[in-house]
Amino acid sequence: MSLLDRVYDPESFRKSGHFLVDLLADNLAANLSGIPEKVIDYIQPDKNYENWKNKKFGDPEQYFKELISNSIRIQHPRYIGHQVSAPAPLAALAGFEGLMLNSGGAIYEMSAASSTLERLVIDTFKSYFGFDTGDGIITSGGTLANLTALICARNAKATEEIWQEGQNEKYAFMVSEEAHYCIDRAVRVMGWGDAGIIKVPVDDHYKMKTEFLEPLYQKATSEGIIVLGVVGSAPTTSTGIYDDLTSIGHFCQKHDLWYHIDAAHGGPAVFSEKYKHLMRGCELAHSITVDAHKMMMTPSLTTMLFFRKPEDSYKTFAQKAQYLWSDSTEEWYNYGKRTMECTKIMLSSRIYALIANYGIEVFGEYIDKCYDLAQIFAELISNTDNMEIAVHPESNIVCFRLTSSDPDKDNETNKRIRQALLEDGSYYIVQTMLNNKVYLRVSIMNPFTSQQDLQGLLDLIILKSSMFN
Ligand SMILES: *Cc1c(COP(=O)(O)O)cnc(C)c1O
Repeated sequence: MSLLDRVYDPESFRKSGHFLVDLLADNLAANLSGIPEKVIDYIQPDKNYENWKNKKFGDPEQYFKELISNSIRIQHPRYIGHQVSAPAPLAALAGFEGLMLNSGGAIYEMSAASSTLERLVIDTFKSYFGFDTGDGIITSGGTLANLTALICARNAKATEEIWQEGQNEKYAFMVSEEAHYCIDRAVRVMGWGDAGIIKVPVDDHYKMKTEFLEPLYQKATSEGIIVLGVVGSAPTTSTGIYDDLTSIGHFCQKHDLWYHIDAAHGGPAVFSEKYKHLMRGCELAHSITVDAHKMMMTPSLTTMLFFRKPEDSYKTFAQKAQYLWSDSTEEWYNYGKRTMECTKIMLSSRIYALIANYGIEVFGEYIDKCYDLAQIFAELISNTDNMEIAVHPESNIVCFRLTSSDPDKDNETNKRIRQALLEDGSYYIVQTMLNNKVYLRVSIMNPFTSQQDLQGLLDLIILKSSMFN
């Protein structure tokens, strides 16, 4: 068999594929029941690089095994670190099928299934956000979706024809100081620099102080900066706290500003009867980013960007070319006109596979489970001596810290705890900085994390800290 015959040999594919699925299924079963002692087997980057460089692989099976053994166990109930989902197996399988079909893309001819499902997914969900007559796209990540929304906002709200002529004025967006850094980055990508991002302070509960919007807006305007819009966080990444989306919406209405909501993490709260109140006011937005790969169980990256007015969705990359789309629904099926990507992975099918097989209610159940666990964890923390919580959680993100009689030492202690946990490997959590204080940070992404797992973490932290002295 020639080398290329081997590459494309269907029987080898069948064999390796079956092997891989069996391997992943065994891995899933073990991880979900928390059997492996370690969630992460941390290896220094340079050492890992040397390891890989020296590996020789006799067959694909061996290669697959190595990849698993060098990867963090995302489906393990004691993985409670960054906001990455434990992917639903069916969503991952749909993603794999999409990779093999390789036909998700810019133009309908190439992506009949993918484009049609993209519309179906957006149409299925848009009314949950109050966008009954809205539209949207699916794109590669919240970062890209937020940039896409801000470019669209600029086209819609700036007085110049920026898409054709470039920009001469100074523009800005207003955003909570706790917003995800990608908003800041998007503003700088658009060439607005430091002045282009106006950071609004947060209150004791890490919510944007919306009463600061007006004075900050007036100040910027008096300095010749044209404020085009406001970004609300739903929730912010560090603390998982939702901004008051209604107040921001009313402020935007008053000054005719674009209102974007970065609901990358917590948009799916709309699917939960119990938690949908957190998204109240989202119907006032012009655009909303929702990552399915955070709180909707799909593999990364799978992000929906909704627009309240369908025509906005078509204008992002073609301000002047509106004549091409006299009817805003014309050519809905050629998604490349509306996304940053040209060629695109088949994204819609990862979400649609879940809708089609389990129904929309699966998303609400998932939110309820993970958000409820954060409430339970907050309770456990409050019952533990020498521990404090940054703020009572609203979502599945909890920030807390060890405290002592010597507050000057607490930052160092919490940093050491986090490092000790990383090296121990039986839990995976992260850390964040709030008001110059180091906090341990947990995102409960796995609905099978138990109260015992969470209590176990607190016990382990106490144990580790006792070893510092
Ligand atoms: C995760 C996150 C992002 C970035 O999204 P990616 O999909 O990782 O690019 C943006 N905003 C918020 C609020 C987030 O939580």
